[in-house]
Amino acid sequence: MRIGIVGGGAAGVMAAYRLCQAGHQAVVFEAEPELGGQAGTFPIAGTRLERFYHHFFHSDRVAFALLEELGLNDRLLWAPDRSAYFWGGRVYPFVTPMDLLRFRPLSWPSRLIFGLQTAYLLFAARWRPLERITAHEWLLKWGTHEVYDRVWGALLRSKFGGYADRVSMAWLWGKLNARRGKSLRGRKEALAYLDGSFQTLFDALAERITALGGEIHLSAPAQQVLVKDGAAQGLRVSEGGRTVDYPFDAVILTVASPIALRLAPDLPEDYAALLRNQPYEGTMTLVLALDRSLIPCYWLSSLV
Ligand SMILES: Cc1cc2nc3c(=O)[nH]c(=O)nc-3n(C[C@H](O)[C@H](O)[C@H](O)COP(=O)(O)OP(=O)(O)OC[C@H]3O[C@@H](n4cnc5c(N)ncnc54)[C@H](O)[C@@H]3O)c2cc1C
Repeated sequence: MRIGIVGGGAAGVMAAYRLCQAGHQAVVFEAEPELGGQAGTFPIAGTRLERFYHHFFHSDRVAFALLEELGLNDRLLWAPDRSAYFWGGRVYPFVTPMDLLRFRPLSWPSRLIFGLQTAYLLFAARWRPLERITAHEWLLKWGTHEVYDRVWGALLRSKFGGYADRVSMAWLWGKLNARRGKSLRGRKEALAYLDGSFQTLFDALAERITALGGEIHLSAPAQQVLVKDGAAQGLRVSEGGRTVDYPFDAVILTVASPIALRLAPDLPEDYAALLRNQPYEGTMTLVLALDRSLIPCYWLSSLV
């Protein structure tokens, strides 16, 4: 089949790679001049860096299998997880159980409750039942307002803003367990980064896709999914100052839901409603190029 893919982020590029391996011809259309999407990079100080900070956890086993397949395993740079909290003008390292004992933002009873909650989520809880409850509800049911307001709630609010109370407890379980993971080949380090940035991965995938007969069109925003008899038949794309209609047997959209709705206004109403009801929260990152470390850790979460 000839398949049109809208979006050259991780999902679009991976879909194209696997489809080409399966004998299909995949054509990726990316609106930006480069692949990568949210994991895309920009040039800085003689190298490239992600627009949004990215790393791998031990638990990213599918990604590690892919890196092995692409011969990029030796480009992985492993580092210890050096997380810390910022509270009351001080940085509190937070990696080991000892750090919990020294964690002054919480009273002694709350430190114990926080430790028990974390241990339960790491070693005993299963994620599936947690899908039915929000993190806000679960953490208050099995904890105290002090622990929630000082730590969990502050973390959820910093990530999800006004949606913090609606986040599933399964998401929080996933976050904690991603950090734990099982050691990969006995390594103690918790986080991995790719030498040369995530661009290394996107370049390797692009090379494989084109070698397998696929195509990648950059600076080529899709305008519309062409539909006939209720089925996608092609894509209308703006490319090189022209509007081009490409025929396809199937179309895959990997764009954010509001864009998908705009590109495919003829979607069945029940599916369109699902997309319409997904709220999106924007995010911005500030990148500073410095000649020394600004903070004594990799990841600093503010509890204020
Ligand atoms: C701050 C931040 C940190 C993150 N850190 C991590 C991390 O450490 N580890 C991790 O696993 N994940 C991380 N993520 C999540 C990860 O970046 C995303 O899950 C992943 O990149 C999403 O890929 P995607 O292909 O689904 O979507 P996107 O990357 O959003 O790709 C969609 C693509 O579609 C393109 N597009 C939009 N409209 C059109 C159009 N009309 N025509 C053609 N192209 C179009 C866009 O330009 C974009 O390139 C992070 C995300 C953020 C925001």
